[in-house]
Amino acid sequence: MDNAHKLQLSKEEMKQYGYQVIDAIVEHFDTERNKKPVALATREEMDLLFKTEAPDEPTNYKEVLQFVTDKVLPNSNIVSHPKSYSFVPGPSNYVSVMADTLATGFNVFSGGWAASPAAAELEIVTMNWLLKLFKFPTTKGGGIFTSGGSMANLTALVTARRQRCGDDFSKAIIYLSDQAHSSNIKAIRVLGFKKEQVRIIPTDIEFKMAINKLKNAIAKDRLEGLQPFCIIASAGTTNTGSVDPLSQIAKICKTEKLWFHIDGAYGGAAILSKKGSKLLKGIEKADSLTIDPHKWLYQPYEMGCLLVRNHKWLSETFSEKPEYLRDIEGNTSEINFYDHGIQLTRRFRALKFYMSMKTFGLSAFKKAVSYSIDLAEEVEEHLRKSPNWEVISPATLAVINFRYHPIGSAYSEKELDAINQKISKTIVDSREALLVTTVLQNQVVLRMCLINPRTTIEDVKDTLKTCEAIAKEIV
Ligand SMILES: *Cc1c(COP(=O)(O)O)cnc(C)c1O
Repeated sequence: MDNAHKLQLSKEEMKQYGYQVIDAIVEHFDTERNKKPVALATREEMDLLFKTEAPDEPTNYKEVLQFVTDKVLPNSNIVSHPKSYSFVPGPSNYVSVMADTLATGFNVFSGGWAASPAAAELEIVTMNWLLKLFKFPTTKGGGIFTSGGSMANLTALVTARRQRCGDDFSKAIIYLSDQAHSSNIKAIRVLGFKKEQVRIIPTDIEFKMAINKLKNAIAKDRLEGLQPFCIIASAGTTNTGSVDPLSQIAKICKTEKLWFHIDGAYGGAAILSKKGSKLLKGIEKADSLTIDPHKWLYQPYEMGCLLVRNHKWLSETFSEKPEYLRDIEGNTSEINFYDHGIQLTRRFRALKFYMSMKTFGLSAFKKAVSYSIDLAEEVEEHLRKSPNWEVISPATLAVINFRYHPIGSAYSEKELDAINQKISKTIVDSREALLVTTVLQNQVVLRMCLINPRTTIEDVKDTLKTCEAIAKEIV
């Protein structure tokens, strides 16, 4: 390492290093099924392993890499594991991992056209694929890749506010359901709205926004001289996969002249399947739509996406140059993505989406998404046949919620909550499956999100058997 003061390895060292990294990644993809998906460690244990002062002196590079593969990487949940059912899994794919490696290796600056015309062009091209999939206008429409769904929602709400409220948003009111993702509330807070400017609309028994309550809330706000300006609908809630009545909300937005944002971070990808696109009818009417490729479009972290009906809305919101100057420059088609969102320096996210689509083909993505929707339905059927399980919310967009509740048992609601909580805790502590609870209508339930195309019905049946065995032990 003669060139350490230039932060360089020799060519041979770089190769050795690289081959070892690739070997580790390939080994991980190849053997993850045989590993346990859950990592459990306390702060003390992690401190004991890792806590050091910043090292003044160098360490042999092989030693550092070995330490990381031995100690660091195994201490994370494996979100692409077939038995990782909880939160939203991250199935990922190897092609995109290599694409990210290239993007990072070449350190492509994906902010402006001039710095990387190809990166900007690939973002335009892949964005057009997505606009077309969601039936957004492809000539006028636009969008931007973000770090994730949270940033896409934030970007959308900044845009909505800029377009609809201008500088004074003191009376602006925003509507979303009690099942909407917490990132929306976070974004609203970041934007500086007061609590009094947010209306949490209750959901119906299917966990969809109750339209009458929405209408009433808007009417009441108008009477009080407030300024309703935006509805956030969920296209696939994280909890149950429920889709708000998008077409009805679109109508309300049209008559009331409100911005229609759809948070499709969880469920948007289901547009790739027949069943999904039926459920998502009306999604094409949104002014802005969040999707999250690092969830159900199989991209590794981080990759979110915001689509808008009119790309000008983004440049009008985020451009620091006046629009009239841009027109004089005559380069509006050569997009500077730093003018379309919050970040200036941006990594080259489009590359992984592009390379994985090109390598596997859209048809493979369609099959994978359809498979997961069908798998959840098969799981529901299996649960309904069993005397031990009760389905609490039916399979919707590959999510299903259920609880242990043997027919004829005399447990109180409180006892059922405790039993199901204990099932989850025991299986997670065993590290055999990542299966945690959520709360629906005051009941503690187990939630499975089945978007990993490598999860099989046997995996699920196996996990349910383990859960039943745990239940028998504790009751
Ligand atoms: C996951 C999720 C988000 C947040 O996305 P991140 O990528 O985690 O930032 C927002 N909305 C919904 C519905 C989600 O499921």
